[in-house]
Amino acid sequence: RELSKTHHLPPVAKYGGRFVVTMLPGDGIGPEMMGYVKTVFKAGGIPVDFEEVYLDSMHETYEHMDQAIISIKRNGVAIKGNIETRDNSRLFRSRNVELRLQLDLFANVIHCKSQPGVKTRHQNIDIILIRQNTEGEYSCLEHENVKGVVESLKIITKERSERIARYAFEYAKKHNRKKVTAVHKANIMKMSDGLFLNTCKEIAEQYPNITFDNMIIDNCSMQLVSHPNQFDVLLLPNLYGNILTNIACGIVGGPGITSGQNFGERYAVFETGTRNTGKSVAGKNIANPLAMFNASADLLEYIGLDKYSNVLRNSIDKVLNVEKIHTPDLGGSNSTTDVIDFLIDDVKAQTQV
Ligand code: ATP
Repeated sequence: RELSKTHHLPPVAKYGGRFVVTMLPGDGIGPEMMGYVKTVFKAGGIPVDFEEVYLDSMHETYEHMDQAIISIKRNGVAIKGNIETRDNSRLFRSRNVELRLQLDLFANVIHCKSQPGVKTRHQNIDIILIRQNTEGEYSCLEHENVKGVVESLKIITKERSERIARYAFEYAKKHNRKKVTAVHKANIMKMSDGLFLNTCKEIAEQYPNITFDNMIIDNCSMQLVSHPNQFDVLLLPNLYGNILTNIACGIVGGPGITSGQNFGERYAVFETGTRNTGKSVAGKNIANPLAMFNASADLLEYIGLDKYSNVLRNSIDKVLNVEKIHTPDLGGSNSTTDVIDFLIDDVKAQTQV
């Protein structure tokens, strides 16, 4: 099966012309962001109904996790706020990780792009980060065999390395990207990162029209903050991917703008790129809602509602680059609701034409 096409298989839930999408509000700013998403979708007459499942750190049972999984499997697609992983939660490994593992959402795709209206050190950044989302250091296999000695297993498999590498090259081909850079620490972790790197090299040979290179994670971190324009597509193992996606989101404006997409062979989950709960800004009317609206636009594109996706992207562009309705994270003094009020009016205006 050609992986680049698996996004649309199997079809997502649709009843009477309307799509049904699972909504997991999560913790921190998640619930308020989801409220705004519902309001703006309603204003634009977007034919999507949300099935909400309250999977958050307050519910310490498996019931909500099961409901979330069943709902996503039924609907095929979800939008999600981040769920706080509390230290005292013994029942669960991180629910965020659990969801990715159970749904086999092996690819995390983040597009970090400079916004002309947002002041940042570097301009014209346009990087796709493709992160392996289901193995490596996130295998949740830690144990203390002897008191004071902890082992934490980092699992790298040929099969999953191959799958994410192929995904990255197919993505590059489809989106006319010129270069894929695999990131690793194979000089130290010769076997695990060595396997990842060698697998990437093997897959790269099947794509002679796309330049392939590789970079060690520490150098790549430095290059990303000092010369980010050299990067096109970054192909990342799980933990390095977590760190580099946050750096990349940071250099184009922080946690409030960029969205993150998670794909498997059957399901897709949309969320913010940096996966923050934003607990410290919750309930203060200052959180930037645009990352969740970009996630909403990604979702609409995925389910084939391109028209509404474009409407939303157009409104987001106006907020950031034309009207410059900037929340404090972008150095502005506007509130969350200033942004939402504009989005409601603008989406309405575009959809009523
Ligand atoms: P936690 O304790 O769960 O880590 P936090 O709010 O302290 O919550 P993160 O959620 O990790 O931290 O977020 C990292 C930083 O990014 C925080 O300073 C947070 O306020 C900020 N942040 C996250 N999301 C947004 C947003 N949408 N708008 C503005 N700032 C945000």
